[in-house]
Amino acid sequence: MNIGPTSIRMRIEPLKFPSSCDDIEAFTTLRGDVAMGNTYSEINLCDYTGDIPQHVLDCRQALCEQLGIGLDSLIMPRQTHTANISVVDDDFMALDTQHRKARLNAVDGLVTRLQRVAIGVNTADCVPIALRERKIGIIAIVHAGWRGTVARIAANAVTTMALMGADISEIEAAIGASICQKCFEVGDEVVERFSSAGFNISQLMQRDALTGKAHINLQAANAAVLTEAGIKLENITISGDCTRCNPQKYFSARRLGINSGRTFTFIIRH
Ligand SMILES: [Zn+2]
Repeated sequence: MNIGPTSIRMRIEPLKFPSSCDDIEAFTTLRGDVAMGNTYSEINLCDYTGDIPQHVLDCRQALCEQLGIGLDSLIMPRQTHTANISVVDDDFMALDTQHRKARLNAVDGLVTRLQRVAIGVNTADCVPIALRERKIGIIAIVHAGWRGTVARIAANAVTTMALMGADISEIEAAIGASICQKCFEVGDEVVERFSSAGFNISQLMQRDALTGKAHINLQAANAAVLTEAGIKLENITISGDCTRCNPQKYFSARRLGINSGRTFTFIIRH
């Protein structure tokens, strides 16, 4: 059955940055009408986790209609837990679908100066991070699971923005909804990866009193990566929402399985 775009009721919620600014905004999609047993209901824009292609296309169309942009101005990478950043510029926009796809493969963060282009990432428990530098209008979006966090992908995005002329002291970051520390139980090999990458693990990890299992605070780890990269602490906001604790709002791979929908977090410069 084909579901027309008009049947999809798009729901998005703004990410809160430290300052208010209508020129550059970031949003997260909310699941919408969650149907029990349908791990893709209702808003899913991710096309590589098993959803019906027509449903994904309908959701993308519904979002573009709401934003008043064309489908070709909605850009999202094929994420593979790398620390790779790609720049979306005029040359990229001129590429055909096939070449765009190649450029976006194995990429987990995007940076652009273009207006009316929504750049976004798909997550289900991983950390989405939106960045903006308002002085010259550079924006970025990052997907950071634990691997991307350890590899400091958020710092790579900051570096890329700086190379394009952004003033790092002016960059604001909004860390979106993602798995909370209580829900994010990891094996000791993951703890070891954070430690050996130079993270202050005593601040980021707690052991459950009953199970003895390690729990890592991925949001705080990414805030640490950002401050290390030169972002002022007061220029960083962290969403309090946990994706696993809020199944009515967000997709969660730990709750729904790896083949579930994804929450789409994007930033756009108007
Ligand atoms: Zn939680």
